[in-house]
Order: sequence, then C-alpha cells, then structure tokens
Amino acid sequence: MIYLDNAATTPVDGDVLEAMLPYMTNDFGNPQSQHSAGRTAANAVVAARDKIAHISGCMPEEVYFVSGGTEAGNTALKGVCAAHKKGHIVVSALEHPSVTESAEDMRKFGFDLTVVYPDNRGIVSPQSVFKAMREDTVFCAVMAANNEVGTVQPVQAIGDECKKRGIFFYCDCVQSAGCMPFPTAHCDALAFSAHKIYGPKGIGALYVKSGANISRLISGGMQERGFRGGTLNAAAVVGLAAALEKAVGERERNNAHILSLRERFIGRVLSEIEGVRLNGDRELRVPSNANMSFDGCEGENILFLLDLNGIAVSTGSACSAGAVTPSGVLLSMGFSEERAKSAVRFTFGKYNTDKDVDEAVEALKRSVNKIRSVGK
Ligand code: PLP
Repeated sequence: MIYLDNAATTPVDGDVLEAMLPYMTNDFGNPQSQHSAGRTAANAVVAARDKIAHISGCMPEEVYFVSGGTEAGNTALKGVCAAHKKGHIVVSALEHPSVTESAEDMRKFGFDLTVVYPDNRGIVSPQSVFKAMREDTVFCAVMAANNEVGTVQPVQAIGDECKKRGIFFYCDCVQSAGCMPFPTAHCDALAFSAHKIYGPKGIGALYVKSGANISRLISGGMQERGFRGGTLNAAAVVGLAAALEKAVGERERNNAHILSLRERFIGRVLSEIEGVRLNGDRELRVPSNANMSFDGCEGENILFLLDLNGIAVSTGSACSAGAVTPSGVLLSMGFSEERAKSAVRFTFGKYNTDKDVDEAVEALKRSVNKIRSVGK
C-alpha cells in the first residue's frame, strides 16, 4: 500500500511501541495503586508528563492526559462554558468537529455563537476574529493548522488579543504537533494527539494554563488531579511522550523530506493533469498537506479508484444517507459545491518516498482520465 493519508493517522513507530510494551505486560499496575506495581506505572506517567511539559514549555501540572483531540476540544469548550454558565463563544469555521459541534451543543444550552470564516486561502485573519469578540465573550478557538487543507493560522496574534481581553483561548494543535512548535505561551489551552505523530491511538494531551477558569467534563476518581476521571493508560501515556519526543527530535529532517515529497507531487500534478486546483495557501500550510480539486470528478470516485491501485487518500466529504455532503471547510473558504466535492486530500509522511509520489501521480492520471471519459 502507498499510504498518503498521514493526516488521518500514522503507524506506531517500533521504538515507541517498545517503550510502551512493559506497561501492558510486566509493569501493568494501576498508576493510582499504592503498592510498588502501581508506583512503577505512576513513575512512568510522571516521567512522560515531565517530558511533555518540557517540550511544550509548560509546567507538568498543566498537562492532562485525555483520549485525544476530540476529548480535548470538548473539554476545553464545554469546560469553559460550564464555568461561566452564560456568554458568547467565537470559533473559526476551520475547526475540527470536536470544537464546532461542541460549540453547537453549547448554543443549544443558551450560549451565543459566532463562527469566523477564513479567506479563500484557508486563513482566518486575526482582525476578523477580533471583530467577532464581544464584552461577554468567554471562549475563542482557532486551530494551529487545519486538518483538511493544512493551512497554518495566525494563532499567536489571536491568542495575545484574547489574553488582553480575558477570553479563554483554545488552540487545537493536533495537525501541527511534531512539525511546528506549540504556541503554549499564547494559549490558555492546547491539545495534541499521539496517533498523528507515530504514536498509539486513544491518547492525547491537553495543556490547560494553571488558574484558568474551566470545569471538568469527566467526573470520576481523583485521576489527573480530579480534572479527568478514569484509570490512566500508562502504556499509552508513555507512547505519547515517546512519540512527541521523537517527532520533535526529527522535526527538521522530517519536515524537509515531507516537504520535498509534497512539492514533487504538487508540481507534477499541476503540470501533468489539466483542470486541477490546489486548495489552501501554497506556502502557509504544514509540509505534509496537498489538497486538490479535479474538475469534472467527484473526490470520492478518485479515492475509490486510487484505493483499487493500493493508494490510500481521503476526501473532506462526508457520506450520510447515501448522499455525499461536500466539505464544510472548503465551502467556508468560498468554494463552490462542485469544487468542494471534487477535492482529494493527499497527506505525506516520513515513510513515503519519491517512488510513492511518482506511482501515485501515475495512478491519479489514469483515475482522473477514466472518470472524465465516463462523464463525457
Ligand atoms: N483536531 C484535529 C485538527 C484533527 O485532525 C483531529 C483528528 O483528525 C482531531 C482534532 C481529533 O483527534 P482524535 O482523533 O485524537 O480524537
């Protein structure tokens, strides 16, 4: 298989898995237990928390382990709303559903909601976010990098303005983790997920600035200082820290390699296939992402034909009740339904090669030609 869907998930690296294994077998104790088996697991969790805090530029007690980006987005938004009981929320239209759907949930509970749209490059301007802010705004979310078009957002400026106005700022760093530093000093909360950086699924970290006005979402035992109940998965926590440490250590090398694959791909596709448009700013995007629309094709059909050729990609479209709904992110950038429905997302990873790119381009040419010839 040629895997070009690295924004969806990545494989677990062998050394990350090795670091995790002892906590699933010999050292399986519950980190809450007071006996030595528990303490061994708890010590591993402490070391992982310290590592993540050091890399993120925060204090260990500001790191909370959660199940991933989805739980983090829900916790940040709903936790702040629960603490305030009423008020106004600002979120960008580019946000992951963990934020947009949480905002909708809170709207139903009486909060006011303003959604800020990006420009046609897929960038949310700080001014448009400032304009949306009100006296009673309690929460604002703008992600570091978008998951569909990969565009990088001006989160520092937005976070700094939120700080001035006393608005809680949440930055989803799920897609930027590894390839970009965390904007910790500019946020009240940020999050990342292990499975996007060659770590295990079902584990992520949520940074929450100490003293922030936020309530917990998951009640239970006293795990995570009473903020998030549930027995910690020590093995996954160890995997998360190991994956992050590795990603940061390899950042320059991986970014250069992945960018060169992405540019080779975009260059060839734009010059060798007619009627193709790149979605999202070409420069202001994470190195891995190429999102392109193919005139006269449905993205879903390209996906299926590439899959038959052993190539894994994705579309931003959702299939519900047998009908394809175009990506909300592409529509929010002002694109037509047709352009949005014809989009395919290719996301490159550190294990991809030039050969993968060339084979994918050849298969893509054949697929697009086939679809267009049927449509004539
Ligand atoms: N935020 C972004 C930007 C994402 O891309 C994703 C997953 O694709 C998530 C949040 C959700 O993360 P998780 O899969 O860890 O719940």
